[in-house]
Amino acid sequence: MLSAGTVGVTPTVDLLVHLPGTTVPIRLKLESFNPTGSTKDRTAAALLSAMEEKEPLRPGDVVVESTSGNLGLALCRLLALRGCRFVAVVDLNTPLDIRRSLAAAGAELVVVNEPDGHGGYLLNRLRTVGELCARHPGYRWGNQYENPANPAAHFQQTGPELLHQTPDLDTVYVPVSTGGTLAGISRYLRAASPGVRIVAVDAEGSLVTGDRSGKRLLSGIGASRRSSFLTPGTYDEAMRISDADSFALCRLLRVDTGLLVGGSSGSALHACLRDLRGPLPPRRPVCLCPDGGQRYLGTFYDDSWLEHHHILDAVQARMDGLRADGILFERGDT
Ligand code: PMP
Repeated sequence: MLSAGTVGVTPTVDLLVHLPGTTVPIRLKLESFNPTGSTKDRTAAALLSAMEEKEPLRPGDVVVESTSGNLGLALCRLLALRGCRFVAVVDLNTPLDIRRSLAAAGAELVVVNEPDGHGGYLLNRLRTVGELCARHPGYRWGNQYENPANPAAHFQQTGPELLHQTPDLDTVYVPVSTGGTLAGISRYLRAASPGVRIVAVDAEGSLVTGDRSGKRLLSGIGASRRSSFLTPGTYDEAMRISDADSFALCRLLRVDTGLLVGGSSGSALHACLRDLRGPLPPRRPVCLCPDGGQRYLGTFYDDSWLEHHHILDAVQARMDGLRADGILFERGDT
């Protein structure tokens, strides 16, 4: 079989954040350095290994998964190496660039366009997966939402990498959707470095950590229901970040440093910034950045897209507000 490439051991980059009267460091862990550009390369490999433990995948077999896009890109690559087909159940919030990448990689796309009444599409994506599996009994579904292989990948890889790269880590910010990344990191850190504060970074209007649903534009982060992996104690605090705050942070970071991160990374940075301006600022914060910004150039990095979604003024106001507060990012490692 062809090589599956190098997954994990992703690099970090150091930022300096200038706040009024002080300058503080933030470290970013860039999961965009994985083979298909996101942390989901780790999850995909684990889901397929678990599937193959039950019954090996053979050329021509079909795998189906509900995905906001990143897991789909990762699964598609690994399944192509095995000669298998992949059906990606995505939704209207999945950026067009990701849908095009999926199609270019050979995925068969099913786009769910009916909102689920909880601010997103997840419940209808899952219903669609169920219908497809009922219609095609041979389809195999890894079920990233409940499969213990999902958090296990991050217990084995992402957690240890975080601590190895930053032994004096005191607070980690992890975006959540299935909760698998956070649950795995947390299980590792709670045992290996119990003093580390773990912050779940969620989307405003998401039910992963919140109890009031609302419409969300950003894909990847948040969900229309609770996570099956997150239990009390998995994290110390949850912060729910609005689309506008997340987009403003991403765009400011781009302007100041040239770094192009994905929206959930912007949410993590926003959460970290909130803490840095609070009464007990972290000394050694690390933000997990699940993907890069290239795939969002046609969405929140684009003024006309923001305008179309009636959020351009809000994003601009947030950026102006951060500037008026004296916030400036700088690369700390150059
Ligand atoms: N950010 C992005 C960009 C993602 O694609 C995902 C996974 N959908 C997450 C955060 C959340 O990861 P998890 O599903 O492991 O909670």
